[in-house]
Amino acid sequence: MANRWGISKNVVVFVKERDKCCVYCGISFANSVATHKTRPTWEHIINDAKINGADNIALCCGSCNASKVDISV
Ligand SMILES: [Zn+2]
Repeated sequence: MANRWGISKNVVVFVKERDKCCVYCGISFANSVATHKTRPTWEHIINDAKINGADNIALCCGSCNASKVDISV
């Protein structure tokens, strides 16, 4: 099974477990009040939606992802 972004369940679970803070600015998702700026969002390291392995998927905060469409976790 894959989520609506084409990311497989295994990758979702793995990345959520691995990435506890934004890959760009380092803000902690767990310790932050979840707002549209601090909530975790999916990030493709290489901006290609066809590459959905754990190596290319990370979590970054809504602030760092602000220039993109809403891809909230
Ligand atoms: Zn960030």
